[in-house]
Formats: sequence, C-alpha cells, structure tokens
Amino acid sequence: MDHFLYRDGALYAEDVAISDIAAEVGTPFFCYSQATLERHFRVFEEALSPLQHLICYAVKANSNLAVIRSLTRMGAGADVVSEGELRRALAAGVAPEKIVFAGVGKTRDEMAYALSVGVGQFNVESLEELEALNAVAVAAGRKAPIALRVNPDVDAKTHAKISTGLSENKFGVPMAQAQTAYTAAADMEGIEVVGVDVHIGSQLTDLAPFEAAFNRVADLTRELRGSGLGIRRIDLGGGLGIPYARSNDAPPLPFDYGALIKRTVGDLGAEIVIEPGRLIAGNAGVLVSRVVYLKKGEGRDFLILDAAMNDLIRPAMYDAWHDIVPIQEPTPGVERAPVDVVGPVCETGDTFARGREMPPLAAGDLVAFRSAGAYGAVMSSEYNTRPLAPEVFVSRDRFDIVRRRPTYDEILRRDHIPDWLSSDVDPAHHGRDGG
Ligand SMILES: *Cc1c(COP(=O)(O)O)cnc(C)c1O
Repeated sequence: MDHFLYRDGALYAEDVAISDIAAEVGTPFFCYSQATLERHFRVFEEALSPLQHLICYAVKANSNLAVIRSLTRMGAGADVVSEGELRRALAAGVAPEKIVFAGVGKTRDEMAYALSVGVGQFNVESLEELEALNAVAVAAGRKAPIALRVNPDVDAKTHAKISTGLSENKFGVPMAQAQTAYTAAADMEGIEVVGVDVHIGSQLTDLAPFEAAFNRVADLTRELRGSGLGIRRIDLGGGLGIPYARSNDAPPLPFDYGALIKRTVGDLGAEIVIEPGRLIAGNAGVLVSRVVYLKKGEGRDFLILDAAMNDLIRPAMYDAWHDIVPIQEPTPGVERAPVDVVGPVCETGDTFARGREMPPLAAGDLVAFRSAGAYGAVMSSEYNTRPLAPEVFVSRDRFDIVRRRPTYDEILRRDHIPDWLSSDVDPAHHGRDGG
C-alpha cells in the first residue's frame, strides 16, 4: 500500500496535491512519500520479529539523504556498495556499525576509508578481495569484520540483468569453495569472521529461490560452526519484488518472506540481516511528467512527455512496466485508447510503454509513473543535456525539495575547454599541416 491516492479527482502524495508541487518545482520531478517509506520499513520489522535482526536498507535503490535519514530514524542500518554510498549513509546519520559494505569490486582506497569509519561488516566476494582487505586492515592496524558472500547457484527467475545467484554470475564465492575460503579468512591477522552473506537477485516474485538459497546458507552455517568458526550473523541480502502493474502482479508478502526466514535460518540463534531496497523505496515514489504533445501517427498515437529515459531508464534497460496515471482522475467509464508513451530523447529506446491503454490526455496534462521510488533517480543521467530531475519529499501536508534541478549554467560549468582550443586557429596544427 502507498500514499499516492486520488482525492476529489486529483492525485495526492499524502496530503499534498501533486499539481501544487508541479506548479512550484516544474516537471519532470520525483516525489517521495515519507509515510510510505516508513510503512514499508515497519512491515519488514514486523515480519522479522521476534528474531534478533537488523534491516540494512540498500542505499543503491534510492540514495537521497532524506530517504536514508527517514529510515535510519526508525532504526534502519544501510547496505552500501561504494564509498560514495557509504558517505551518504554516514551523512544521513546511520551509525557505522549498522553499515554493511557490499560489492564485487571494492578498491583498497574504499576499504581503507570504510575501515577508518568502522563499518559493521564487509561482505567479501572473492579470495582476491579477502587478501586485499586483509592487507589494508593489517596496514591500518585494524581487524575487518567480514561475511563471505556465497553464491548458492540458484535461479532467482528474475530479469537476467538483475539475477545474481547463479554460478555464471560475477557475484560471490561458489558454495563448494566456501569452507576453504572461510578457513583462509580465519587465519588472517586483519580479518575477523562474523557471518555468512547471500543475495541472489532483485525483483523476485517467488519465494522458492529464496528458500533454496536460505537452506544452503543454513547448511553452510552449521558446517562452519562444526569446524569451529564463530558465525554469529546471517545476512540474507535483499531482492523481494514489488507489484509494478497494480492490475495483475502479486509478489510474495514480506510477512511470508519473514516466515520463510524463520523456518530456514531462525533456529540458528544468529543475528539476521536483510538488505531490502526496492520494496522499501519502489512504491514510495512517483515520477511526475507533463505531456508535451499528443502526436497523431499513422496507425499509432504517441504521447510525448517531458520525462525521458535519462530520468527513468527501467523500461529501456529492463523492459520494465510502470503504471502511468493521469494526475487528474479520469471520469469513471471514460474510453481508453492505446498510445505509445515516449520521451523526447533521440533514441527509439526512449519508449516507456507501447500500445498502453490510456484515458484521453492533451498537451499540458500531468501524468505520474508509479513505482518510481527505487532505481529511478539514482540511475538517472544528463543524457541529451537534460538536467537531472529534482526530488521532492512529502510528509503529511508538507513538502521540501531534497535535490533541486541543476541550472544549465551549473551543467556547462562542469566542462572545461583546454587552453589550446581557446583561440579560433591552432598555430601548432597549422604548422604541421602546412609543412
Ligand atoms: C541490489 C542489492 C540489494 C537490494 O536489492 P533490492 O532488490 O532492491 O531489494 C541488496 N543487497 C545487495 C548486495 C544488492 O546488490
């Protein structure tokens, strides 16, 4: 459930009319609902209690400081995959010991920084990374708390680009090598083994792959403990899917996911860590855009918006579906007609939906892409020199701009023309050509 509902024929974010925000901020913009973020966090809390647990919000889903801040105030930790995200989590007030540092390609500089601030856990994905982390920790006179990310070789049955738990994927240590890797880790001076970690993919719509993975993790934990390793934490990653098409999607509920966790690893007496991103942020955000033209084509009509693939890349990148709704509620029973919903970018890939049944819309009307709170703004770019869409944060009847739209001056100022190009003629070049 979210807090983007029609009221008297207009779409609201909590108690704020979306059209009021559009009038002040301009379009396109992202709009997040604090009550929805909090609700999703609370649902996970309830699903995991009374297990000893920590919910580390996966910052990569939506890394705006206001979003992280709202969650950490409720007790969330953070799962980060770069020094930049780590810095964001700290700036938002997440306690370092509640931060998990994940990712296949952590550099030594990133490791050194993470050690210096005292992150709670490094999720290590290879023997090579383990050796590098040990060296960095020894040089810093510290011990790095680690979990090895194991690759359970289960098919998450999600989009290939976000499936991570197969042996062919770049992620984690193969199960068969886990025992050896843990034994090596336990002997390293700069390493403290604290847990086991797994993350098999994103937007999972079935619990069965989770069950297979968690069972393998439970077996491995017993095995490792049997050989004297103190595994006190089990990190089960993120990945629970959300409904993108309200009409027919019904992914598993967090409550059932929690019950599965209790059933598979609940009796091991370990602290359970989960790293949800999409389920917390996805349906807590919309992308609001304005219709620029309704272009009548030959046999197809195009709804051309002022939002584009640079703002929301999921349809182009993952063939993702987003519900697109008018801000002005359509009158009940109004006739819908198929249109291609597209952006202005010079690529055919800049298509949000093909043949989407939409109520009548005209230039100037506002629409909202639902479920745009996760993997939306964080994946946006300035392709076609389109300024990054601003982000707006709503709580009850208040809203604030939590990332403003950059000006064209700011964008151009980041570039620099080298001195030797500053005159209209390049003497050196002339000399060479002229002989
Ligand atoms: C992406 C990612 C997550 C979050 O995945 P969601 O599908 O957004 O829940 C959690 N952990 C790791 C290691 C990730 O890479």
